Order: sequence, then structure tokens, then C-alpha cells
Amino acid sequence: HLWVDGVAQPTVFARMSARAAALGAMNLGQGFPDTAPPPVVAETAQRNIREGVNQYPPGPGRPELRAAIARHQERFYALAWDPGSEVLVTTGATEAIAAAILALVRPGDEVVTLEPFYDSYAATIALAGGVHRTVPFEVRCTDGELSLSVAPHALREAVTDATRLILLNSPHNPTGAVLGREVLEALVEAACAHDAIIVSDEVYEHLTFAASHVPVATLPGARERTITIGSAGKTLSVTGWKIGWVTAVPELVAAVTGVKQWLTFTSGAPFQGAVARGLELPEAQYAAIADDLARRRDLLVDTLRGIGAHVAVPEAGYFVLADLSPLGEDDATALCERLPEEAGVVAIPVAAFCHDDAAGGHASQYRSLVRFAFCKDDATLAEAARRLGAWA
Ligand code: PMP
Ligand code: GLN
Repeated sequence: HLWVDGVAQPTVFARMSARAAALGAMNLGQGFPDTAPPPVVAETAQRNIREGVNQYPPGPGRPELRAAIARHQERFYALAWDPGSEVLVTTGATEAIAAAILALVRPGDEVVTLEPFYDSYAATIALAGGVHRTVPFEVRCTDGELSLSVAPHALREAVTDATRLILLNSPHNPTGAVLGREVLEALVEAACAHDAIIVSDEVYEHLTFAASHVPVATLPGARERTITIGSAGKTLSVTGWKIGWVTAVPELVAAVTGVKQWLTFTSGAPFQGAVARGLELPEAQYAAIADDLARRRDLLVDTLRGIGAHVAVPEAGYFVLADLSPLGEDDATALCERLPEEAGVVAIPVAAFCHDDAAGGHASQYRSLVRFAFCKDDATLAEAARRLGAWA
């Protein structure tokens, strides 16, 4: 037994992006934006490289970035963190998630997440020897409009004394749902009742369209037991820079830092000051990124409705879910394997974000759902629309 089950396979994103490249297909699979980062952010990174900011930065992050992360949390959410002991810079949100899980989950501990879930959650829970329990989104369809939501009671029931962590993700990938206060309150109540720690993946915090994002750490009783995770990849459209961060009380930051030092030791020096600059931008600039994304969302939603799919209009993020069963396509996993050749378009089946039913998951509930990314340039979205129209 050489490796933990499932961990050695390439991720669905790597596999599907490789197929898109090999076939010249429109890549609506992997979620990375085609838009350029704010100019001042790119220029600051270039200047840093020119001026010699190229060696190991301090392990927990460069002081100007830790201070900027703290100021950003204060400005948007009125959360006060001490940059010295309550902020950690990580190599993307991915490292923050892995370090938090590896630091806190002992073999046999339960970790509760929503389902569908971001793929790295299951892999890192498995690497830590944890047991992954999931709370499924309920899918409804009314007059061709899909909607996905989480029932507060389902969350309450999933959390028990065996729960070590609740790994939350709102705004949510892949559903595009923004969890409301009622669900978050149920979650905090359950965490307090069972002494569980909350890890809150908020990488899409600024990419919201109508609903506004509520960080779980702002709820009464949550601050002391919540590790909040952010990412410059999403907030500043620089997914390839791999700069993320953690905010939490000193004991929790120390635990995550302890693991981070053995995973990567430090994170990209020249990018850190650039991200710090990006976190100081006026609110209107984040809103402009979200407005531009909302326009792309509407383009893709129109395309998918136009071919007869049932669509869940997302409240946030990069993705739209579509049910293609009205087109006779009940098996989205099989469809997404064929679609690159048949239509010249790559997308991801929602089942890739689920555990099989036999393994305690809920993949069958999402069997006909496909995730399409709309964070792409106009030419890509237009060509994808043309190809999907011709295919349908
Ligand atoms: N969490 C979620 C929900 C994501 O969608 C992603 C990927 N974009 C990540 C974490 C990883 O973020 P990063 O690229 O900063 O590692
Ligand atoms: N977060 C992106 C997505 O959900 C991709 C990240 C990755 O490739 N691992 O598509």
C-alpha cells in the first residue's frame, strides 16, 4: 500500500485542462480567470523582482503583507487581528487548508464539509487519517430554474462529539451559493456544543454578485474557534502566484504555522508586497471585478438556457451549474468525458466534487449536473456558446 487512496491520481482540473490543451477545446473546466490583475499589483511584483526581493521571506510572511491582511479584515468585516500573532501567509489557500487539517486532525477524527466539496478537502482529510462526513446541498428545480441550498438542521445533525473540524466554504465552489446567517448560526452553535474548530474557506469573498458575504468569524462565539482562509488568486485574479492567508487567534495560527514551515517553509517573496498593495485597493475596484464576472455569468447562463439546460444562477464565484438531463444527458461524468471531442468544450461533472454513495457520499444526487466556468474572456465564452449551440 504505497499511498493514501485516491491521492496519487491527477486532479480532475489537471486532467481536464490537459485535454482542453490537447484538443484545442474551450476550457470551461478549471477555474482560473482570463482577466489581468489590477495593474498596480502586477507592477509591484515586477518592481520587487527587479529590486532584489528574491530570497526567502520570513516564514509567517512579510510584515507588510501580514499588516495588509489584518487591515483588510478590519476594513471589510470589522474583525481585528494582530498581524504579528494572528495572521499567517500561505502558499495559496490550498496550503492553508492542508496545513490546518494536518495540524488539527488526528487519525479517526471526523471532519464535516458540505457536499459537493472542493477536491483538495477530501484528499487532505485522507492524508491526515481523518474521517470525512458530508452535508449535501439539496437540489430543487422549479420551472426549469435550479437551486441548491443547505438545511441548517442537516448541518446540526452532522456535527457530533466525534467532529474535530467543520470545514466550511462560502461563497461555495462549485454551487456558487453564499451561505446566509441562519445556516452559519446553526454551524457555530453546533461547533460550540461539540467543541469543534471551524475552518472557513472564503477565497471567493469578493466575487459576490447579489448576496453579500458573511465571514463566519464575525458571528458571536465564532472568532475564538475559527480559522479563516483567503486567497490573492481569487481576490486579485492571480491564481498562479499562490499567495493565500490565514487569520485566527494565536494558538490556532501557531498550529497552522507549525505545519506550514514543514510544507513550504515560506511563500513567494516578490508577490507578497504586490498582494499587500492589492489588499489596500478601494472597494470599488473589487466591485468592478465582481461586476465584470457577473456579466460573464449572464452570458454563460444564456448559452446554457439556450441549449435547453436547467441552470442554477450562482450568487458568487466562477462557476455555474447546469442540469443537462432535459437534453437526454443523465450521466454528467460520461458526458464531460465525451464533450471535449463532441463539442470542443471542457467542463467538470459535479460528481467529481463528491464521494460515491457507497463511500458515504452523495454523488448520485448530482449525477446529471455539470460545472461550467465563466471566468473566461469574451471570445472564449462566445466560441463556447457557438460550439455548445451546434452540439445540442
Ligand atoms: N478553495 C476553493 C473553494 C477553491 O475553489 C480554490 C481554487 N481556486 C482553492 C481553495 C485554492 O485556492 P489557491 O489557488 O489560493 O490555493
Ligand atoms: N479552484 C479551481 C477550480 O475549482 C482550480 C484549482 C485547481 O486546479 N486545483 O476549478
